[in-house]
Amino acid sequence: MKPLLFAFAVTIPACTAMQHDPVAIRAASLRSGICVLHHVPLREATVYEFAPVHVATLDPGMGTEVHDRYPNSLPVEYEFKKSEFNTKPVRYRYCPVCQQSYHRDLDEASKKAAEEWKREHHT
Ligand SMILES: [Zn+2]
Repeated sequence: MKPLLFAFAVTIPACTAMQHDPVAIRAASLRSGICVLHHVPLREATVYEFAPVHVATLDPGMGTEVHDRYPNSLPVEYEFKKSEFNTKPVRYRYCPVCQQSYHRDLDEASKKAAEEWKREHHT
């Protein structure tokens, strides 16, 4: 029993540190196939990468910040639906809960930003 307890003691602080590192969360989730944040299996889908310009030249804005909170959601340069700009098909593993949370938080962040903009420009 002792070695097991020791393993737990070592694992818990490591988990806490990982909560703040989106890259580590993503890597651990891909390794196990389970979202480290939500404990649900990752799903795999064909998504479409933004193709016209190199991703590094994009201004990802709020999307990246929110994505870092849910590292298993789809990154800003990908879309589930093919469009005029998102044309390159890629297989991607994502967490459905992260994806939902990402949309919810991004929605809230956009609304807040819009309200702030209104306050600054119309008062
Ligand atoms: Zn998740």
